[in-house]
Amino acid sequence: MDENNSSENNPPRKNLFSINKIHYARGDRPAVDCILCGVTGKDSRVDNLSIAETELSIISVNLYPYNPGHLIIFPKRHLLSITEVTEEEILDIHKLTVKAVNLLSAAWKTTGFNVGYNIGKNSGGSIPHIHQHIVPRFPNEVGFLDVFCNTRIVIYDPFQMKEEIVRLWNSADED
Ligand SMILES: [Zn+2]
Repeated sequence: MDENNSSENNPPRKNLFSINKIHYARGDRPAVDCILCGVTGKDSRVDNLSIAETELSIISVNLYPYNPGHLIIFPKRHLLSITEVTEEEILDIHKLTVKAVNLLSAAWKTTGFNVGYNIGKNSGGSIPHIHQHIVPRFPNEVGFLDVFCNTRIVIYDPFQMKEEIVRLWNSADED
């Protein structure tokens, strides 16, 4: 099975097991105070899956994607609450969101997206530094049970996904 095949009639739903989640579940996280500040500061102990950055924010592939193309956008400032985000920052995040949704829709014929924040202890979020998720949705996905049983299958290796989305992102800039 060729997991790189993503032709128009055959959306990218070929699967690999997300085995790296096991390390995360065991607590093998990088020894930094904040992973997202580590990304912002280009700390070598943190996997850097950034696609692009502006003066205020960064858009990155999620290291543990729920779906192919699962992205996160976060302010560079270490903010723990959406009430601390400035209007400039939220507008910047929104612009990055629009660009990401547009380019994934065009490139992958994505049929839906979930966009939002996990806020507070019981929301399911695991990184306190606030970040907005963009989760592309595809027809015939497996259900949430698979996600929570840690058997969720994910199309691309996140690093491979980063390469592909960076390519899309940069070619959109040239339009
Ligand atoms: Zn932080």
